[in-house]
Amino acid sequence: MRRLRRVKIVATLGPVSSDYATIRALFEAGADVFRLNMSHGTQADIGARHKIIRQVEKDLGRPIGILADLQGPKLRVGVFAKDAEDLEEGAKFRLDLSAAPGDASRVQLPHPEIFAALEPGASLLVNDGKIGLRVDDCGKDFANCTVTVGGTISNRKGVNVPDVVLPLAALSEKDRTDLEFACELGVDWLALSFVQRPEDVTEARQLARGRAAILAKIEKPAAVKAYDAILQVSDGIMVARGDLGVELPVTSVPPIQKRLVRGARAAAKPVIVATQMLESMIESPVPTRAEVSDVATAIYEGADAIMLSAESAAGKYPVEAVTTMNNVALSVEKDPTYRQVIEASRVVRRETIADGIVAAAREIAEATNIKAIACFSQSGQTVSLVARERPRVPIIALTPLMSTARRLALTWGAHCVITEPQERFKGAVISAVKAARADGFAAEEDMIVVTAGVPFNVKGTTNILRVAPCDERLISRVDPE
Ligand code: ATP
Ligand code: MG
Ligand code: MG
Repeated sequence: MRRLRRVKIVATLGPVSSDYATIRALFEAGADVFRLNMSHGTQADIGARHKIIRQVEKDLGRPIGILADLQGPKLRVGVFAKDAEDLEEGAKFRLDLSAAPGDASRVQLPHPEIFAALEPGASLLVNDGKIGLRVDDCGKDFANCTVTVGGTISNRKGVNVPDVVLPLAALSEKDRTDLEFACELGVDWLALSFVQRPEDVTEARQLARGRAAILAKIEKPAAVKAYDAILQVSDGIMVARGDLGVELPVTSVPPIQKRLVRGARAAAKPVIVATQMLESMIESPVPTRAEVSDVATAIYEGADAIMLSAESAAGKYPVEAVTTMNNVALSVEKDPTYRQVIEASRVVRRETIADGIVAAAREIAEATNIKAIACFSQSGQTVSLVARERPRVPIIALTPLMSTARRLALTWGAHCVITEPQERFKGAVISAVKAARADGFAAEEDMIVVTAGVPFNVKGTTNILRVAPCDERLISRVDPE
């Protein structure tokens, strides 16, 4: 099975998408990576979803990425007896520390430190800013508020307090437990919420000990400011527009998105554009024109991946939402303007031999009638460099490591194939050609470009580029051992 688009799709799993049939349908519709949000659901739920994804992976024979999203120091309300309540503008609503299920008059806000920092007049924003509350009076364990913007409030919705500086650690006790749990489970990516400093990322990396790659969610003003330093220590980036658009004026999100995507591309690290991409599809089988345009914009900008949140986790049309993203991607990527935009924004960095080889691979492939770039990689680093070139031809990433293949599920254009560990270049070329033909990238009469690091058993960087015929008899005749 192969995708006909290059941008990747991340789908969040939740109550409507936790059974085998739905997860498989989401994958078949186009989801490349599944996001497990540790803010919602127990470890048992997360473990069960993880198991189902791995079963789908096995049944369909394609590597699938799993991203565990750590809650981070996000403030959230507790739960409601009826799961949700409508708050009307002008109504009184109380936040307190009691764990009793909430109703239309009150709910738990299990964060004593907030009550300590709040003052009358402060505003609280609930559910990515959709509901507004103003504090009328408050004490060490409560805040009586007036609803300034009404809406539906439901279980564990996030709360932002933009006017108040809160002393919050990057990783809570829950995050540390969840991190260990997710790493032991075998997730491929850990997303860190509310990163503020590069140290937040290094701390998580130390705890993960190489078991998962680390993705920084950029959603705080401090993270936008320290972006370059955070990018340097992260393996990937998420433009987390939900909280970003609450913590900063919503109109600053598009320029920040552009900057973050461009920076991550230049660093050859995968970048996800997330939140509200097809929001109306939570309730409707068709998206708005503006949403389609937003998804398209992220693709034109060269994002590695686009993401669904509540659309696939809690909406009425999870599979349709993935299909919509897939169709938008197909439409954008065949637009000649897309190629022009992508090429105009290509980053030219020629510092290492590997940089030079992947650039040459792209140039050769595009100047001639070559069908694909096949790239041998252990860590996935060379594949990321090829992806940064955003070549017109498909990228076949060959690796003996399942963990690398799964991480690369997030990387633009990377079609991963697990190969036997290679010992000789000739054997490697033959397995690249076989993979290209088996997955429908090339036919016997075609040619592909192969890059690799030789000798194979010495850890090193890519140092060889070969234009190979896809006819195995020709390879045997012309190639040296
Ligand atoms: P984050 O800030 O990490 O994105 P979020 O609360 O916005 O957290 P999303 O994963 O983006 O969560 O999903 C959006 C909404 O979908 C949630 O607010 C929630 O209502 C619903 N949802 C998502 N996953 C789950 C789940 N596993 N269980 C229940 N509801 C979920
Ligand atoms: Mg968030
Ligand atoms: Mg969200």
